[in-house]
Amino acid sequence: MARPKNCRMVSEMPGVVYFKPRGIPLTDLEEVVLTVDEFEAIRLADLEGLYQAAAAERMKISRPTFGRILESAHQKVAEALAQGKALKIEGGAYQMMEMRTFNCAGCQHLWQVPPGTGRPTECPACHGRDFHRLNSGLEAGPAQRCRNRCGKK
Ligand SMILES: [Zn+2]
Repeated sequence: MARPKNCRMVSEMPGVVYFKPRGIPLTDLEEVVLTVDEFEAIRLADLEGLYQAAAAERMKISRPTFGRILESAHQKVAEALAQGKALKIEGGAYQMMEMRTFNCAGCQHLWQVPPGTGRPTECPACHGRDFHRLNSGLEAGPAQRCRNRCGKK
């Protein structure tokens, strides 16, 4: 693996990054490390139920690459479950999607929308239609930002 891996787009960081089996002292515990892009693959395919082609599109990678990431992720989760290992989520070749922020003029609600999903039709809080985008200066494509933000392994 001499060449740097392509960045995989990730829309959400995991809320919990460490899972530990109950009753095993830390000193005896082995860890499995799931990368953030592997976590995202599981989230998209297994939780959101996306087809691999659609999930690959979301992460801006090819479908075979997505398949490999997902397979590796499943293997690691299975290993942690079957062998009672801790599961830690960190690292990997990924970058966060540039979320778009909208602000409602009616109720001042602020919310974020991932790129490529179109403009929201209404404020999710008050269903008002008088809202505007806050960070319109950050429209630059993710590819140009990749080098600076990519998680290094
Ligand atoms: Zn509102």
